[in-house]
Amino acid sequence: MEKPKTEKQRPVYGMASNCAFMVRRAWRDCKGVLSVGLGIVLCGVAASLLELFVVPSILTALERGVGPGELVWLIAWFTLGMVGVRALRGYLDENAIFGRIRVRSSLCLDLHLTFCRTSFPHIEDPDYVKQIKKASKCLDSNDDAGEAVWQTMTELLTNLISFAVYLLLLSQVGPWVALLCMVLSAASYFAGEHIRAWRYRRREEEAALLHKLDYVIFRSRDMKLAKDIRIFGIGPWLTELYEKYARLFQDFYAKSMRYYMWADLLDVGLALLRNGAAYGLLIAMALRGELGAAEFVLYFTAVSGFTQWVTGIFAGLGQLHRQSLELSVLREVADTPEPFRFDGGKPLSVKQNHLYELELRDVSFRYPGAESDTLSHVNLTIRPGEKLAVVGKNGAGKTTLIKLLCGLYDPTEGQVLLDGEDIRQYDRRDYYKHFSAVFQQFSVMAGTIAENVAQAVGDKVDLPRMWDCLDKAGVADKIRELPQGENTHLGREVYLDGVDLSGGQMQRLMLARALYKNAPVVVLDEPTAALDPIAESDLYQRYSELTGECTSVYISHRLASTRFCDRVLLIENGGIAEEGTHEELLKQGGRYAYLFNIQSKYYKEGAMEDE
Ligand code: ADP
Repeated sequence: MEKPKTEKQRPVYGMASNCAFMVRRAWRDCKGVLSVGLGIVLCGVAASLLELFVVPSILTALERGVGPGELVWLIAWFTLGMVGVRALRGYLDENAIFGRIRVRSSLCLDLHLTFCRTSFPHIEDPDYVKQIKKASKCLDSNDDAGEAVWQTMTELLTNLISFAVYLLLLSQVGPWVALLCMVLSAASYFAGEHIRAWRYRRREEEAALLHKLDYVIFRSRDMKLAKDIRIFGIGPWLTELYEKYARLFQDFYAKSMRYYMWADLLDVGLALLRNGAAYGLLIAMALRGELGAAEFVLYFTAVSGFTQWVTGIFAGLGQLHRQSLELSVLREVADTPEPFRFDGGKPLSVKQNHLYELELRDVSFRYPGAESDTLSHVNLTIRPGEKLAVVGKNGAGKTTLIKLLCGLYDPTEGQVLLDGEDIRQYDRRDYYKHFSAVFQQFSVMAGTIAENVAQAVGDKVDLPRMWDCLDKAGVADKIRELPQGENTHLGREVYLDGVDLSGGQMQRLMLARALYKNAPVVVLDEPTAALDPIAESDLYQRYSELTGECTSVYISHRLASTRFCDRVLLIENGGIAEEGTHEELLKQGGRYAYLFNIQSKYYKEGAMEDE
């Protein structure tokens, strides 16, 4: 079902709220941003006043018939003032960037942490991922809203203060000059903004295009795809996709720029009208003798300055409005309600020497947007310390079942229980502490082997424990052979001296990581898929030693490997089709026995051929 558009497009936070938010962030992360900003504003106002008064002051002095010495002093003071203020402003402008970058970096960190900590289903929700991308776009560079907003705010404040001073001055001539300038500037701003809003109204379309473009760029640089790109010749396909989305984005961008151009043209036209009328009025007053030379120059300069401040205010407001929309997205992402409980959930600590019971009670699960349930009304109790094997065809729902047990998804219907208690009440991060897992995809970081196994850095790594786990996982000898041993970096994406381990070695490393965590429940999703048959058989034989007393769930594609488990579940048609020990299921002569016979026949035939 499509989400209601109007509600989605209205920004949650307004301009004032977003400015206050940024000021609060600066107060917390780098107070210098505020003092430097204030300095820039004061310099801006001082410079404009000096420029306004320099010529009228000289003219007044001349009219008063002052001597050349006094005149030189007057000019020297103004010049010194203007140079001093400009120099200070330049210095502050140059240095403002450091503090502003600190505030932006802190916002970037928060956004990344939000993504790392959010409920797992969000990671697979394209709408959420799109929002995150849009939010991070506002922090990408110095020119994006998360940093550029400071410049907008300082300029706006300079314009506002200068406007007030000029308004006071122009009110001496009569209210209509100021009124004329204000009305025409306001008309220019609102008409222009209406035109410029075209892009904002289509921001979903823009984000969708950028998302596709980013995906193609990311995939083409993805190391995992590098082999396939070469062997399957995926290059032209990726190029075609890139060109298609780049073209679509360029068209979109060009269209939005055309709207911006029309808005700018309107600005220029109305500015001509505005200044022309005001200057005309001043000239008429001067001709009628109502203004002296110095006054005429003062008001003439004030009119052009005044329109500049008014236009600056509206342009600044327009800019602030756009930046505020982006900042609102950033804050909205942080506010997105979490389907899981974290800090607000009941704390749950891992009990030492305690074996946990896990239960799926009448659990159904349907992926968002799917037409049917992947799992339907599943009832399963995993007894404390039980070694459970889960088998079934590809796509039967084995991984989904494991993700439900681990609390990565919540059931669409039913409950997951830990020692009889619904896990939804707990702080989900506390719940995750109960699990060690080896998932099918290797998730290593470009760090050292020790850091990857221990998921910790430096002296936080318990080296004897790490070597024990590497030994148990059967990869310690390989690591010892490496010149840097456990300090060898993995992969070459970041470290040039990094090593690439084979699929099997990597799988053993992942197993070592799971053992190192030493959690009470061990979950292994096809942990031998990349191992050779001897290594695989060795792992099966040592399975009990590896998992110890822990409750364990083991997904296997090799049915014979389930012999060492207390119970085997066959998942089919969204439910548990058969369950029992390996021998019981063979005796039953059902689907499990049928699948086992096919597999063992294949292996026997394969073995005979080998002989
Ligand atoms: P198995 O582990 O038994 O191979 P899975 O649990 O991975 O099966 O998948 C079960 C079904 O759910 C499959 O039809 C698969 O296409 C679908 N599925 C898996 N993950 C997702 C997902 N993130 N979104 C939508 N459907 C999914």
